[in-house]
Amino acid sequence: MKKIKWDKGHGGSDPGAVANGLQEKVLTHKIVEYAMDYLEANYTGFEQRTTRAGDQTLTLSQRADMANAWGADVFVSVHINAGKGTGFETYVYNGGVSSQTVALQNVLHGEILAAMRQFGNITDRGKKRANYAVLRETKMPAVLTENLFIDSNDAKYLKNEAFLKAVGEAHARGVAKFLGLPKKDKPTPSQPQQQKASDKKLYRVQVGAFGDRKNAERLAEELKKKGYPAVII
Ligand SMILES: [Zn+2]
Repeated sequence: MKKIKWDKGHGGSDPGAVANGLQEKVLTHKIVEYAMDYLEANYTGFEQRTTRAGDQTLTLSQRADMANAWGADVFVSVHINAGKGTGFETYVYNGGVSSQTVALQNVLHGEILAAMRQFGNITDRGKKRANYAVLRETKMPAVLTENLFIDSNDAKYLKNEAFLKAVGEAHARGVAKFLGLPKKDKPTPSQPQQQKASDKKLYRVQVGAFGDRKNAERLAEELKKKGYPAVII
């Protein structure tokens, strides 16, 4: 069981960046909830926790301590940028980091940027390093994402619920890829009924598929000549 710790940036008495009618703590809450729902629906072999289920106030060290005490395998801190810039960037600690940490940054950066670019021309501000407490104090691979700017034209994306969902799901896919989580088996809609209808399994052999019916008839004739029953569907 891999352990995933999601950190919703800010919260409680600390709203984070505020502009354009948006609060960073609300956006980070939504993105992480979308990420957790997506993992739950699509993958197995993991446990996940968030630093705050609701709107609690937490220090940076408390967030790192929680991840360390639990023995998390991965830590992802979600933030929204401010300062009137534009685009997406990710951070790892600017001290000594493991190759695993760099790998986590690479996979998350790629997944999230690609998801964002479904919605518009998003600037790639790059994979960066900084002395952030949650990155410095966590003992497992840890990445912090800065998901566009709350106080620029980027806000139009952050006001779009579908965008936040896509960004959350991309965080989840990145973590799943990094950890190599198995995908949940999703039965195709017709399978369960077929299995109920008969206890006996039927194995069918298909020998050809054709755009032109004449070609199918030709093959059916050939099979019949050789003594095989042939049916055109
Ligand atoms: Zn922040």
